[in-house]
Amino acid sequence: MAVVETRNLTKVFKEGELGAVNKVSLATHEGEFLVFLGPSGSGKTTLLRMIAGLETPTSGEILIGGQVVNHLTPRERRIAMVFQSYALYPHLSVYNNIAFPLKAQKVPREQHRTKVEWAAGLLGIGKLLGRKPRELSGGERQRVALARAIVREPAVFLLDEPLSNLDAKLRASAREELEQFHKSVGTTTIYVTHDQVEAMAMGDRIVVLHQGVVRQIGTPKDVYEDPADTFVATFLGSPPMNLVEFSDVIVGFRPESFLPADLLPGAKHVRFRYKVNYVEYLGAERVLYGAIEGRHFESKEIISRLSWTMPAGYDAGSVHDFSVAESDLRFFDRKTEKRADPRPYPWQ
Ligand code: ATP
Repeated sequence: MAVVETRNLTKVFKEGELGAVNKVSLATHEGEFLVFLGPSGSGKTTLLRMIAGLETPTSGEILIGGQVVNHLTPRERRIAMVFQSYALYPHLSVYNNIAFPLKAQKVPREQHRTKVEWAAGLLGIGKLLGRKPRELSGGERQRVALARAIVREPAVFLLDEPLSNLDAKLRASAREELEQFHKSVGTTTIYVTHDQVEAMAMGDRIVVLHQGVVRQIGTPKDVYEDPADTFVATFLGSPPMNLVEFSDVIVGFRPESFLPADLLPGAKHVRFRYKVNYVEYLGAERVLYGAIEGRHFESKEIISRLSWTMPAGYDAGSVHDFSVAESDLRFFDRKTEKRADPRPYPWQ
């Protein structure tokens, strides 16, 4: 049974306007780390808030543990939510911040210490229980917020961009900690982010949202290697997938698949004449920006990512033979922009 399920879940804030969330149907697996990923305004937070019970759906159902919970209050849903602004109580100690939900739930007082120490121990903040939030670093505050969320032993965790207030370095270590933590408690977690690296690194599966609509649900590998449409193809991956438009089909390939032709011996591949316009040197790799020429298609900017181990000499202004293995090509219908694998290939 899915821990959280939504059926045709819809939220329209203003009548007559496009929904912020449109007919979203999804189900989490037990113990899964599910990520909602999408650009700003794609409906991630609204979807999460409806699951939490903080926003009333316009239509559709939310189920938790197989039961429809639309009519239940947030507390009755056994859900814990951690927001981007994790709002600790500044006048309370770390201990009392973590114990706060236990008081609200009227858990007997003698159980508080054991539960608070358990939660604080899991997050490595056992030594900070006597401090006030202002005496903590950003990362420590984040952990207090998480401890406060887990102390109630919820059925589901909902996390809304909980790492976005941290600087890049802290963010990477907090990401790792959160993954470890998820492994150790095993609670089903839904995590909202617009950061694709975070989504790829942490998610068991990713729900890609755009304009309130689910574009794809899949593992990080699925959405990266087999995008369902051109939106997913270009939203995931930095730089994004290259798209070349033929008469009725769009052909996509990742910059790391577009390589000097003589480096791809053996594999069946498609060859292009590639003119390099400029080069970004990024240490571990060089990113080439250029264009390909051909009679059958319109080429926008085409990007190639070359590992630092590859030979130099692909400088701005130079022209080369580059190719893509056929197995790395992805095809999209030009009208619907959805995946469509045609035969024969459009250039044949
Ligand atoms: P971000 O990454 O910027 O937080 P998001 O994907 O979480 O974005 P939502 O906050 O869910 O997006 O917003 C989805 C759409 O709904 C946006 O167009 C937003 O302007 C609109 N919206 C959100 N909350 C309200 C509200 N209370 N009243 C009216 N419109 C709203």
